[in-house]
Amino acid sequence: MTYCSGCGTKLEQGMQACPACGKMDGTSATDAAQGQAFAAAQAEGATAFPQTAPKNDTPDIWIPILAFFIPVVGLILYLVWKDDKPQSSSAAGKFALIGFIVEVVIGILIFCSIIFLISMSTI
Ligand SMILES: [Zn+2]
Repeated sequence: MTYCSGCGTKLEQGMQACPACGKMDGTSATDAAQGQAFAAAQAEGATAFPQTAPKNDTPDIWIPILAFFIPVVGLILYLVWKDDKPQSSSAAGKFALIGFIVEVVIGILIFCSIIFLISMSTI
């Protein structure tokens, strides 16, 4: 006399499946094999269908503005979001670079105009 490994119902000799729950008798080994096959199939499916891009990756309007005016923040956001939010990351990085260049140019212009004013005043 054997018992169903799933629900414990008594099984008659030679019974293939449990009449109560339908579980195959004495199938712990095959169950494990089936489970492994299922897991393998799932893993294959996971690789066949790569994870879709994370949702909510539309760059917010404040990201480029913040990155533009404070390029350091933009650079940090770029590094933080590089893997999780590629779109927000690229927006932050791009505007951080633009902001950095603009600020360097403005800095040079201010520097030159100060030099110019000093040289004018000394003449
Ligand atoms: Zn059963």
